[in-house]
Amino acid sequence: MATIAPPKPSTLAGELARRLRGAVRGEVLFDRASRGRYSTDASIYQVEPFGVLVPASHEDVRAAFDACRELRIPMLPRGAGSSQCGQTVGRALVVDHSKSLAGVVAFDKEALTVTVEPGIVLDALNAWLKPHGLWFPVDVSTSAQCTLGGMAGNNSCGSRSIAFGNMVHNVLAIDALLADGTEATFGDEAAMHGAPPRVRALVAGLRAIGERERDEIAANVPKVLRRVGGYNLDVFHPQSERPYTESGRVNLAHLLVGSEGTLAWTRTITLKLAPLPAHRTLGVVNFPSLYRAMESAQHIVTLAPAAVELVDRTMIGLARGNPAFRPVIDAALIGDPDAILLVEFLGDDADGPRRALDRLVETMGELGLPGSVVRMTDASAQKALWEVRKAGLNIMMSMKGDGKPVSFIEDCAVPLPHLAEYVDRLTRVFEKHGTRGTWYAHASVGTLYVRPILDMRRDGAAKMRAIAEEASAMVRAYKGAYSGEHGDGLVRSEWVAWQFGPRLVRAFEEVKALFDPDGLMNPGKIVRPSTMDDASLFRFPPGHATLPVATGLDWSAWDVHGDAATGAQTPPGTGGDPAHGFAKAVEMCNNNGHCRKFDAGTMCPSFRVTRDERHLTRGRANTLRLALAGRFGPDIASTEVRDALDLCVSCKGCRRECPTGVDMARMKVEFRHQWQRRHGLPLRDRVIASLPRWAPWASRLPWLANLRDTLPGGAWLAERIAGISAKRALPRWRRYTFLASSAARDDERPDVVLFVDTFTDRFEPENAHAALAVLRAAGRRVAIARAADGDAEPSRPLCCGRTWLGAGLVDEAKGEARRMVEALSPHVASGAAIVGLEPSCLLSLRDEFLAMGFGDAAVRLGDRAMLVEEFLAREHAAGRLRLPLGAIAQKRALVHGHCHQKAFDALSPTVAMLKLVPGLAVDVVESSCCGMAGSFGYEAEHHELSMRMAELSLLPAVRAADADTLIVADGTSCRHQIADGTRAGGAGRKAVHAIRVLASALRTEPAH
Ligand SMILES: Cc1cc2nc3c(=O)[nH]c(=O)nc-3n(C[C@H](O)[C@H](O)[C@H](O)COP(=O)(O)OP(=O)(O)OC[C@H]3O[C@@H](n4cnc5c(N)ncnc54)[C@H](O)[C@@H]3O)c2cc1C
Ligand code: SF4
Ligand code: SF4
Repeated sequence: MATIAPPKPSTLAGELARRLRGAVRGEVLFDRASRGRYSTDASIYQVEPFGVLVPASHEDVRAAFDACRELRIPMLPRGAGSSQCGQTVGRALVVDHSKSLAGVVAFDKEALTVTVEPGIVLDALNAWLKPHGLWFPVDVSTSAQCTLGGMAGNNSCGSRSIAFGNMVHNVLAIDALLADGTEATFGDEAAMHGAPPRVRALVAGLRAIGERERDEIAANVPKVLRRVGGYNLDVFHPQSERPYTESGRVNLAHLLVGSEGTLAWTRTITLKLAPLPAHRTLGVVNFPSLYRAMESAQHIVTLAPAAVELVDRTMIGLARGNPAFRPVIDAALIGDPDAILLVEFLGDDADGPRRALDRLVETMGELGLPGSVVRMTDASAQKALWEVRKAGLNIMMSMKGDGKPVSFIEDCAVPLPHLAEYVDRLTRVFEKHGTRGTWYAHASVGTLYVRPILDMRRDGAAKMRAIAEEASAMVRAYKGAYSGEHGDGLVRSEWVAWQFGPRLVRAFEEVKALFDPDGLMNPGKIVRPSTMDDASLFRFPPGHATLPVATGLDWSAWDVHGDAATGAQTPPGTGGDPAHGFAKAVEMCNNNGHCRKFDAGTMCPSFRVTRDERHLTRGRANTLRLALAGRFGPDIASTEVRDALDLCVSCKGCRRECPTGVDMARMKVEFRHQWQRRHGLPLRDRVIASLPRWAPWASRLPWLANLRDTLPGGAWLAERIAGISAKRALPRWRRYTFLASSAARDDERPDVVLFVDTFTDRFEPENAHAALAVLRAAGRRVAIARAADGDAEPSRPLCCGRTWLGAGLVDEAKGEARRMVEALSPHVASGAAIVGLEPSCLLSLRDEFLAMGFGDAAVRLGDRAMLVEEFLAREHAAGRLRLPLGAIAQKRALVHGHCHQKAFDALSPTVAMLKLVPGLAVDVVESSCCGMAGSFGYEAEHHELSMRMAELSLLPAVRAADADTLIVADGTSCRHQIADGTRAGGAGRKAVHAIRVLASALRTEPAH
């Protein structure tokens, strides 16, 4: 097989970019930041590609192939880039089809088949199929992100593979483009006899190799279901426990499945569908030891479950430590088990799964574990428990310090009779190397996930090899598969020879040469690999250094060393990070791609609109990481980072939903701080940042402050001069503020302190009046938060500093925060609750205040700070709330949660309080960010994107609500977005703060 000579990067890349720009409609991304963003996946590797093409059509891909072939530049197909082994990392033109090539091409409900483009996401496909009562049952954990093209590329497998098989068992045909430009549909071998000569010769060549190597295949291809390494040359003489085809005929698409983009580019895939299971039951088996659990798996699978999933003691402990998950996991436990197995049964009628559950109980009795099964027949309880299993993994991955759980033997598959011994022996191998791993996942098929904790910047590579060698010896002894789920990529391709032997490796090279004689498709994977511990390919090679940064915020919590064996951490600030923990916080992103969310949750609104890697939390973290590594110059205040963060609306969706807690909103504050120190701040940003300072003057002369919206041409002028979108109405300044009103007086011995932020006070003081009325009606003694005695500006209202933070003016924000801490500390000391109304203002007390260097005083304040509904809900739950509420005119409330409210789990208290209003039905809009996000939506350059964010789900839901429905939104900017977005020539839909609903429901007589 020909290999490619090393190209001269700059000239070749430049020529490729030039040709692509002239030939394609899609995006041609050859700038250094884009190349950097596409140089990683969920593995430990990093290789910069020549450039990136985000094709707009299949013609674009063909044009790219033509250009690459002529220039002899390799091509690397990519979906979500969630591969764990380095499959999508390489010196090539990366072709990212996840943005535009994601459609359903054909569907045959009767035949149970669908044909899709490679970029469609599994969850999106299943949502599309659901109304037809069907699904594609290869249910990988990354179903919300992974594309069908990537799943086929990796031969992915799900939790229920014991029932439905792997990708290879569920693909019927692949329409492919070869590197030489040939197009062919790979499917049933017999049906390919009419193909063009090039394809017929290819098929004949493949068969000849398959026949020649028949004995070698029988001797060396593992017989387990979970085997995804090498090429599936056994399509001609199947070795899988499960037949590849129902007819027993050869299907050549199966040779492309698992080929990791090294043979051909998948244009479309035809998939076999399954009816949605009508009924399911779950039995949770509790074990006194992990060993007993693993020993039992072989017996449990004889009951024909759809899934048998392990959760070990560590994960049980992690789940029990989380208040939200504790009741769910506790409901699944009997006593204090060392491990549990989640055993699921599916059926068309209710009886089958119920009887299977009975048999599970009997089997466990026979195995000497009577009374060990918790029966779960309720669908919502089952769903909640599956969520816990997923979240456990997330918490495990959020380990701080340089040691991280590394995926390289994560998915070795061993036959079930050996599983217990394998787990036991490998645990001892970890101990010998001074590390440990948590065990979980697919016990049903002998594929247990385990990631030892390694520090790749220090001795990680050596330990990785030593552990891999010991693990592989066991896998061989047990006749298992070294690559059981995640593929080969860079970390395991060198093990293909170990698994299949030299003769089959040569056969694989022949297969590669038949498809791709010039070696242009994703080279270095499966055949002709590099070594797994080639440090030049590591994301964090030994000696990895970061730039020194004098940070504005305190990042020391991330600047720690972790002990791989015990999990213990050194104190904050001792990790040796020249960026004082900022770099280590950024490096928490492990590229798993979980932020590529499209429906549920908040993260990441800008990506949901643009679908650009640059506007994804992962893309931002990678850009920052590269900047911190000095890739964009000696200062992190680079235009590359500025551009990547530009559309981040600081919603904090990632803070809550990213498995490792990447908080891009806080990182944006730090970046803007660095930026404005180096480049200064535009007038508009400075004016917005200092709003709390000039607000008193605006309130004194509201007619003047409101001129922009009252004077003809004022909005146009403001856009030209200040960049404030003319399409927006600005909030109206009010002369009479709450803090200046007579109502704002303190009760004796207050047990609640009401913090009234600038926005509430100046634009909607009635919200503060409502809060006061509700708190007093509930019998609370209320004080109003004001500057402390001795404050340099005693008459100036308190401010959380949010607007300063947004501009990166951290010192000014700290000044405001200090006033707050000083003013509120006496109330905190007396045990009062600190309540507020505006989520982004109040919740900064629980968030950014902790990163400003105020020590314990800020921690104590944060512990007592809550939104007013949170306080009321807490009191209600404790049986201390007596709120006299009666029915109101409206019968339904539709609630939109402010992003920060959702990020801090503060939306459910709002919903709970609204539900106390008699006769009021409360629904929550499943929405991401409203798109206004403070000043973001007012900025002329962001207006359109802001509206597109709102149109994703919020505005359609509001428009669909009938006129009698109350629209509830606690965020000031959310309320404005709702009004603006529904205006369409009229007044726009008015949304109100939840406290106003409660206040309007107050009755004078006490409630009983
Ligand atoms: C936290 C986590 C959990 C995971 N859980 C599972 C799991 O339960 N089961 C499982 O099997 N995997 C799992 N994975 C691995 C990974 O998510 C899956 O393999 C997934 O299917 C990959 O999809 P993708 O779109 O990200 O593909 P990518 O990573 O983008 O690509 C995968 C491979 O397919 C090739 N490819 C992509 N598109 C094409 C195309 N059009 N033509 C030819 N080749 C193409 C690529 O070159 C690459 O080699 C997990 C990963 C993570 C990070
Ligand atoms: S930002 Fe978080 S969710 Fe996104 S890839 Fe990084 S670690 Fe995963
Ligand atoms: S803060 Fe919001 S917009 Fe910014 S990266 Fe996180 S999820 Fe995306």
